[in-house]
Amino acid sequence: MSPSSSLPPTPLLDFARALDFAAHKHIDQRRKGVRAEPYVNHLSEVALLVAEATGGADPVVVIAALLHDTLEDTDASYEEIERLFGPEVVKVVAETTDDKRMSKAERKQHQIDAAPTASTRAKLVKLADKVSNLRSMAASPPADWPLTRKVEYFEWAHAVVAGLRGTDARLEALFDRAYHDGLAELRGESV
Ligand code: ZN
Repeated sequence: MSPSSSLPPTPLLDFARALDFAAHKHIDQRRKGVRAEPYVNHLSEVALLVAEATGGADPVVVIAALLHDTLEDTDASYEEIERLFGPEVVKVVAETTDDKRMSKAERKQHQIDAAPTASTRAKLVKLADKVSNLRSMAASPPADWPLTRKVEYFEWAHAVVAGLRGTDARLEALFDRAYHDGLAELRGESV
């Protein structure tokens, strides 16, 4: 038995393990934007947004936020996440994972269609994910995306969030600000 496995599980221990797990799984991944930020910056932002939204009272949603892209973008498996972080966490991670058997267009439509029936925890992670994505799209857009493609991305995110509303007023307000300020910034207007 390793020394760490004899420690009693606590939310803080699980949080640190999830952060370390996600940082390692995404180690070679960067954000799409010109700054190519380390991917873990996206995960820490999403985790902070849901932690603030829930007043730090729900470790499951914060840990799931750290892990929300591991099934989709890394070699992590459902069973691995379930074994390490439990059934509640893996359920939220699965709900925030696109089915890669679908085409890109189908996945985008599916996110819009699936949003209203997601669990509350998954809705919080999805909302925070869209806030983070729009902020980075505005601050550090992909170099090869024309304005129309960036605007389409904003409109798609807006359509997904329409199905998530009524979950958390503050996060929804942060999304609205990221949407309006980000679009203005992309269009070269002062905000
Ligand atoms: Zn994400």
